[in-house]
Amino acid sequence: MPKYSLVIPIYNEEDTIAELYRRVSSVMNRLDGQSELILINDGSSDRSLNMLRDLRNKDDRIRYLSLARNFGHQVAVTAGLNFAQGDAVIVLDADLQDPPELIPEMIELWQQDYQVVYAQRTKRHKESWFKRSTAFLFYRLLKFLADVDIPADTGDYCLMDRKVVEILNSMPERNRYIRGLRAWIGFRQTSVRFERDPRFAGEVKYTFRKSLSLAINSLVSFSRVPLLFSTYLGLFSAFLSLLMSILVLYWRIFEVKSPITGLATIMIAIFFLGSVQLIGIGILGEYIGRIYEEIKGRPLYTLAEVSGFTKEESI
Ligand code: UDP
Ligand code: MG
Repeated sequence: MPKYSLVIPIYNEEDTIAELYRRVSSVMNRLDGQSELILINDGSSDRSLNMLRDLRNKDDRIRYLSLARNFGHQVAVTAGLNFAQGDAVIVLDADLQDPPELIPEMIELWQQDYQVVYAQRTKRHKESWFKRSTAFLFYRLLKFLADVDIPADTGDYCLMDRKVVEILNSMPERNRYIRGLRAWIGFRQTSVRFERDPRFAGEVKYTFRKSLSLAINSLVSFSRVPLLFSTYLGLFSAFLSLLMSILVLYWRIFEVKSPITGLATIMIAIFFLGSVQLIGIGILGEYIGRIYEEIKGRPLYTLAEVSGFTKEESI
């Protein structure tokens, strides 16, 4: 049984895998116990999977899973957590934006009886202005809206104790925003700070669409405020129309010539009400869509290949 598990999702990372292995294995060699390296191929279309096979032949601390298609980062990490056996499990990105050299520091805190040690970035090097500012705003919004305290500027880079991993694995939800679930679980949590390096090689795999959907997912799974928002919007528009009716009535009775007549007024009122309703329905739809996702009860991922685990299985 390994003491430490390192879980790394891989999606088209052929340019980074060799360097990743070099840096991660040198950290693993220095740890105070046995460790395993779990690599999850998230449906890559490049040579990544072949490279994982080669690594596995070279180093038997390496185990890998290959998902049958691209399921996305959060699901890939979830799959890795399902298979990890260590007493402490460390999740990091493949592109070396999360420096593996931080791991000993995280382990030290774990040994001081912290069950979750997450890495908090103080600076992002060479990421676009757009990415940095949207990320900044998003984390603040999430902190403001979410009903658990999700620390700002933390990614998935973290160490989790066995207990926490077991709980995470037993959570049935399909919609997996791991940072949020991790915060929800509780226990003693602390952070280590680091400066986020630029990607070692290759393109960013989180497209704008993927990032946006992760952001919406996290807001909807950890906050009911958007639902309240549509209620408030409705109340506000009801109040406004009441005010208008009183005004119109007043003009009708006491003024000979009513100042608001004509098409424009009516059009504005119709558009206003129409949009309030559509926004409300849209927000409701986000929640109902998620209920639908949950209720289908499909497995979270399908496995095409598993290698290095005692219980070899493929679904
Ligand atoms: N990743 C994945 N599946 C995806 C997208 C990304 O497994 O659909 C992995 C990717 O290989 C990397 C990590 O998730 O190890 C983070 O991706 P990336 O560096 O592109 O995103 P960032 O968080 O840096 O914006
Ligand atoms: Mg990255």
